[in-house]
Amino acid sequence: HGIDFSKIASIELFQEGPARVDPIATFKDAGLHPVMLKNVELAGYELPTPIQRYCLPAIHLGYDVIGIAQTGSGKTAAYLIPILNKLMGKAKKLAAWRPNPATYKPGIDPPCRAEPLVVIIAPTRELAVQIFNEARKFCYRTMLRPCVVYGGTGSYKDQEAQLQKGCDVLIATPGRLVRFMEEPRTLTFRRVRYMVIDEADEMLDQDWKDELDKIMTGGEQEEGNINYMLFSATFPKAARELAKTHLAETHVRLRVGRA
Ligand code: ADP
Ligand code: MG
Repeated sequence: HGIDFSKIASIELFQEGPARVDPIATFKDAGLHPVMLKNVELAGYELPTPIQRYCLPAIHLGYDVIGIAQTGSGKTAAYLIPILNKLMGKAKKLAAWRPNPATYKPGIDPPCRAEPLVVIIAPTRELAVQIFNEARKFCYRTMLRPCVVYGGTGSYKDQEAQLQKGCDVLIATPGRLVRFMEEPRTLTFRRVRYMVIDEADEMLDQDWKDELDKIMTGGEQEEGNINYMLFSATFPKAARELAKTHLAETHVRLRVGRA
């Protein structure tokens, strides 16, 4: 793994936001379902990294989170573990609307729509696939189904077929996601509970601001209690504005820096 724990002792974490949380010391303190705790163990994670020590309880308590930390600090698991842990119970209900493979007639029965519970946005295909692979580890034995969609070389038709099989955890690049949002028979945001913007600085540099705004408001029509998370290596003005527009005023902001 990419984490050098001998260096972690010298990494300090600052809580800068309006809300504060008590950090956990071990994954066992995070209140995780036994299945999720086992998945963390299977991933080979022995101790939480600094950002994970704060992020797990923050998300568990229902806060929106801004996480500013350099590459390699374990940001992906910092949001995936607590979010997937919260959503585990919700996946079971999906069985009701998933077509029964024994009776489903393709082309006659309507395609099943993807109704993700969490949407994770990343700037590149490589990163989206990396997050997808991490999500697969933590979805193991949870009934949650992860899917990844991205532009460029990614086949739209193949990705559409994947989505139509059902999707609880959607990882996407912004351009391709906006395209799928225009296909309500394939994808709907009506069940979304969490939205995560990963590498926000990178995406804003690439001029995806309009798409991000569209995605982040795209799930708000129903109960409107969506938790927003923004992760970034740096926190420039454009990222601060995105956070101000979409995140709850009472959020947890974490910044990891070297002591
Ligand atoms: P970031 O997004 O901050 O750049 P990643 O989430 O990609 O970092 O994590 C970097 C690497 O560290 C990955 O290989 C990941 O599997 C590993 N990792 C994350 N958390 C832990 C942990 N608690 N213990 C051991 N390895 C970890
Ligand atoms: Mg990352």
